[in-house]
Amino acid sequence: MRSEAAVVLKDWRADLHCHSTCSDGTVSPLQLVELGHALGLQGLSITDHDTIAAYSSEVEEAAQRQGIQLLPGVEFSAEYKGHSIHILGYSFLPKNSVILNFCRRHALRRYQRAMAILSRLKMLGISIERELLPKELIGRPHIALALMEMGVVSSIAEAFKIYLGKGGKAYLETDSFSVEETLEVIHAAGGLAVLAHPHLVKNRKIIEELVALPFDGIEGYYGRFPLYSNRPWLALAEKKGLLITGGSDFHGEVKPESVLGSSWIDFARFSPLWEHYQKKEL
Ligand code: AMP
Ligand code: ZN
Ligand code: FE
Ligand code: FE
Repeated sequence: MRSEAAVVLKDWRADLHCHSTCSDGTVSPLQLVELGHALGLQGLSITDHDTIAAYSSEVEEAAQRQGIQLLPGVEFSAEYKGHSIHILGYSFLPKNSVILNFCRRHALRRYQRAMAILSRLKMLGISIERELLPKELIGRPHIALALMEMGVVSSIAEAFKIYLGKGGKAYLETDSFSVEETLEVIHAAGGLAVLAHPHLVKNRKIIEELVALPFDGIEGYYGRFPLYSNRPWLALAEKKGLLITGGSDFHGEVKPESVLGSSWIDFARFSPLWEHYQKKEL
């Protein structure tokens, strides 16, 4: 006979990759916790782009009330040899000053980049009202939404294709901090660093070079990945002795194809990250 605990663990799921209104998602951190609970998730990490503003005591208390293990997380935009690389940081304390300072530097970088994109658009005859964008942490999806609202494009995909994506008329080459520096920051903050959605890095040699850097894990379950296609990533993580994480990359309405909880990890994969975090809480 199976014990109740075994049954609970059998259905245990954590989604460790989603975005809130603190970056370019359309669902608030509090709503994310509620949605996660409604969908039957037991573990969650809100991994906003370059900010940990989602981790307020109100959100942490809501997660506790709903029985959700909320793992501190963030998704840093980084750069390696001209490639845009996303690095997930987990298991740090949200009050850690090293991570907070790095987020502040990213906020300034994003502000400057957004202003540069806006001036390129202006040269193309498109003036976006400042009020259509958030005060800080401006991401390209915010600019895409503004372009849609103004009737310049009819979809976010079109905004990226014509203006904001690589090769677009208002595209700016990646200008973020290096992968090496980002890894140093995450580790100095006591966190764990995970290579996000490795399948988006199309260059095999770059992948080889990246996994030789001090990463702690690889995101092996992602979005609506067909299950078989992640096998190489699981094998690579196992070969290198790295943790395997996973999540949906849920953004709400700006990316309706990614549903919260559509990709997840089980308790065994979640435990090392949670324990790393819990050791700091003591
Ligand atoms: P940023 O961090 O400001 O460079 O914007 C990156 C975000 O834009 C990511 O969250 C992606 O989901 C989104 N994104 C990138 N390319 C596209 C695209 N072609 N269509 C829609 N969203 C995109
Ligand atoms: Zn995003
Ligand atoms: Fe990403
Ligand atoms: Fe993401």
